[in-house]
Amino acid sequence: MRILRHRLHAKEGEPASFIRSPNTGGQLDPKYLVIHFTAGRSAEGSVNWLTNPDARASAHLVIGRDGAVTQLVPFDRVAWHAGPSQWDGLVGMNQHSIGIELDNAGRLERKGGKWAAWFGTTYPDEELMVAAHKHETHECGWHLFPPAQLDATLEVCASLVKKYELRDVVGHDDISPGRKCDPGPAFPLESFRSRLFGRSEDHLPQFRTRTALNIRLGPGTEHDRLPQSPLSPGTRLEVLDEDGAWRFATVLDSDEEGAEVQGWVHSKFVERIG
Ligand SMILES: [Zn+2]
Repeated sequence: MRILRHRLHAKEGEPASFIRSPNTGGQLDPKYLVIHFTAGRSAEGSVNWLTNPDARASAHLVIGRDGAVTQLVPFDRVAWHAGPSQWDGLVGMNQHSIGIELDNAGRLERKGGKWAAWFGTTYPDEELMVAAHKHETHECGWHLFPPAQLDATLEVCASLVKKYELRDVVGHDDISPGRKCDPGPAFPLESFRSRLFGRSEDHLPQFRTRTALNIRLGPGTEHDRLPQSPLSPGTRLEVLDEDGAWRFATVLDSDEEGAEVQGWVHSKFVERIG
């Protein structure tokens, strides 16, 4: 994932799915990520609702159970996801955070011998966990988040943390305790926090270009060169992914103010430096 002009794009440069919500405020300079669950039936239903003016609510992203990501609000605009909230001395977290909604039925209650969502759908035991919320004492059911959804969420969060130099990831239940219970016990918040902000024992390998080197949209010479090509000899790169002899990298020494340059380079022309 890369972020261009405050919109998500796939590595290949294709824009991610974007359905604009009218439910937005002013300029945003994000400092935090806020994770939510939709407590809804489907990602599509949640996108429809959060782009409806009657909802008076929105989020920057909705992530489906299959990992499909839909952006509703550019990352430099306030979305209406947090409501009354505070964290770390800041009040009104809409003004300070990027909101991510995960398609999930939310809290489940025992009804007629089955676990049911507020909208009536029932879920089998293998799709839920039974636990007490950290701010409550009674146990109830919580719809699980599938691995494809968590993987996609972590990938997007990592891109956002890097791009906007975010300080932390929190749950809606952290910033509005008592009023909100999402994302709840089924969401691995501590694991996300340590993977996004933990000590960098897993810091990404760094390389340097040996020669003037083209950087491309895809892994192969058939893919277009980025306008920043060729990179000067000695340019530092951080490698995120690989495909055969090709490496997908972020350019660390970019001349361009603000814009993060990412693309594919051939491994033969780079040397490892860290
Ligand atoms: Zn929420």
